[in-house]
Amino acid sequence: MNLLIYCSYLRLSKYPISCFSFFVLFDIFYRVKRRTKDIDQIQDELQAIAEGRRTKSDYLDPDVSGGGQHVCIPCSRVFINAQALGEHEKTKPHKKRLKLIAEPQYTQEEADAAAGLGREK
Ligand SMILES: [Zn+2]
Repeated sequence: MNLLIYCSYLRLSKYPISCFSFFVLFDIFYRVKRRTKDIDQIQDELQAIAEGRRTKSDYLDPDVSGGGQHVCIPCSRVFINAQALGEHEKTKPHKKRLKLIAEPQYTQEEADAAAGLGREK
């Protein structure tokens, strides 16, 4: 189902599926499979935690590894123990993610301006 959503997002649905090589479809499948939350969703989540609307206990889930006790919220990943989480926090992708999250959240005005719908001031 996610694959279909992603194909419609890429506007691939106007082409028959036979237009794409196996490798293109494989690439799309893995991009969908490994897709994490977007930066603005994580910024919203961090704001909710700061305001107390969301707590650490909301992430507890017996179905995920480690019971959801060791969560990296910026990367939206769950780790099996505190050691694995500590090692993850030293990695490059995590640090890159933190840098992206520290930037100001984009707004609808910014999106309109990019599409050429901005107002002259
Ligand atoms: Zn992380």
